[in-house]
Amino acid sequence: MNGKFVISLDFELHWGIFDVKEVKDYKTNLVNTRDAISKILDLSKAYDVRLTFATVGFLFSKTKEELKKFIPDVKPSYSYRKFDPYRIIDSIGENEDEDPFHYAQNIVKKIASNKNHEIGTHTFCHYYCLAEGQNATEFNADLEAAKNIAKSLNININSIVFPRNQVVESYLKVCANNGITSYRGNENTWVFIPKKMGQLAKALRLLDSYINIFGHHTYSIKELTKTASSCLNIPSSRFLRPYSKKLKVFETFKLRRIKNAMTHAAKNNELYHLWWHPHNFGSDLDKNISTLHSIYKHYKKLHKEYGFESETMTSLTNKVLIKNKMSL
Ligand SMILES: [Zn+2]
Repeated sequence: MNGKFVISLDFELHWGIFDVKEVKDYKTNLVNTRDAISKILDLSKAYDVRLTFATVGFLFSKTKEELKKFIPDVKPSYSYRKFDPYRIIDSIGENEDEDPFHYAQNIVKKIASNKNHEIGTHTFCHYYCLAEGQNATEFNADLEAAKNIAKSLNININSIVFPRNQVVESYLKVCANNGITSYRGNENTWVFIPKKMGQLAKALRLLDSYINIFGHHTYSIKELTKTASSCLNIPSSRFLRPYSKKLKVFETFKLRRIKNAMTHAAKNNELYHLWWHPHNFGSDLDKNISTLHSIYKHYKKLHKEYGFESETMTSLTNKVLIKNKMSL
């Protein structure tokens, strides 16, 4: 199988950061997220790139009344109450027009209308699988709610991105039982293990975005074997860091690092999996879109030269599964 290019976007608006920032602290980014998504969709259409939007379940609703219908009886019983998004539901606006930071049905429908793309889940409530207090039963209830609210818009959920990349091996079985066939795993280097990231790991991860410290983070398609729980790991290669004024002199290094790894993946029939949050593009939108444009141009070149192919998480999973069956 030729090399594959996967892009997953963690679509969450304020639900992705409600425990660390208020809307007013991140308003520019959140206000511009809709515009960012429109521009990303336009560019992806022009370059025939497929996207997977791992979307927080709350965002599928248009009104609070609708959202409340899907809230599960069993909620995460976090020891640290700050992680619980249900505590702020009473304070959010009544609908998408009034409060575009907590509802996004219009965008979800827009993305879903292009059959090239996939809508996956980022859990219903931006669920933290490594947080103390919660358990697998509560996670299962959350996933069921995510599936149900998606189904109300005729969307089937087949892939998951764990909030804060908190992958818990034993929860993959819960995912598989809910019809989820793939997830985005972490890079295979210690500095990328969630919750084990001290200041040194953070600094090394940052540095690795600009210069090659830990390799390309590309993965042999052949090696993408199914885990015991039947949920395929499609690991991350790189978080696309947004444009930074402070680090602007290094922007060309960042882009070169991504392109080199994509070339490596294309030449060696490997996977390159890029991800970010649409709200990351909210500041300096034009600069971020121009970076993405450059990545897409490179993809097109690799597509022509090596048959490098853009896939959603599920389209790749289906191909890997068919290939596995054929080799049995
Ligand atoms: Zn998130």
